[in-house]
Amino acid sequence: MAALDIDVEDVPLPPLLIDLLSQDGFTIFVKGPKEMGKTNLAMLIMEICQGLELRKFYATNIKTECYYVEQITNKPDLDQWLNKKHGKKTFAMDELGKNLRKFGFASKRNQDMMDVIQLIRHFDCGFIGMAPASKFVDSGFLIANDILDAEIRKLSKGFAKVIDYYHGETYFWRDIPATSIKYDSKDIAKFDMEKEEDTTKLPLCCQVAARAAKFKEADASMAKIGAFFNLNAEQTKRELIKHLKHQKNFFHASQTPEEVDVHEKSEKSP
Ligand SMILES: [Zn+2]
Repeated sequence: MAALDIDVEDVPLPPLLIDLLSQDGFTIFVKGPKEMGKTNLAMLIMEICQGLELRKFYATNIKTECYYVEQITNKPDLDQWLNKKHGKKTFAMDELGKNLRKFGFASKRNQDMMDVIQLIRHFDCGFIGMAPASKFVDSGFLIANDILDAEIRKLSKGFAKVIDYYHGETYFWRDIPATSIKYDSKDIAKFDMEKEEDTTKLPLCCQVAARAAKFKEADASMAKIGAFFNLNAEQTKRELIKHLKHQKNFFHASQTPEEVDVHEKSEKSP
């Protein structure tokens, strides 16, 4: 067993909460104003689960220095983690309100996030979501019993009220200590549905092209795309043309798919 700075046996954890944390999967919402120690509470729960050997694997979108807590910031990595690790897992998502916005229930992103939460439960994984208040979070997540097993309200740094829907009880958690998991509350990644490719090792023309692709929907001038690389409009354009050419060489094709499209269109048009 890992050496812990705090003796988890001495943390006065409510027995019903221990029972909930022992289930295969669970969903907990931690709320409370800024500086009230929501992140501390979530990290403490993970530390207690590790200390009491209630669960085996831990991940979060927060950067931690803890060897047993992985940082996962996108769905492909989460899928892999859920599929490969066998045993009870816990995933804590800080700034849930940014990932699962209130009034965004009809949005694709919220639907994807709700799917992620359902997926988490399917793989014997607990989910702990944190936000300052319910009003920041999609109400679809806050449905008691259906989705949510408990809501923990931080009332002060060391004191919380637990509304335990799973057991149908409400109780207090007193004398909550500081977790010994070191985390960076400023380094909380937004959870992405897709994995961002590392383009920094690619030639400049490819990097410029990748950046241009991101601007696709928006109104982007050459200068705007190139600004990131300290290129002016003319230089940016040159890199993009260079990219098209070398991409063509790369595929050893006489025509790029774009050119095929253009030809087809031009033949049809009068
Ligand atoms: Zn290129």
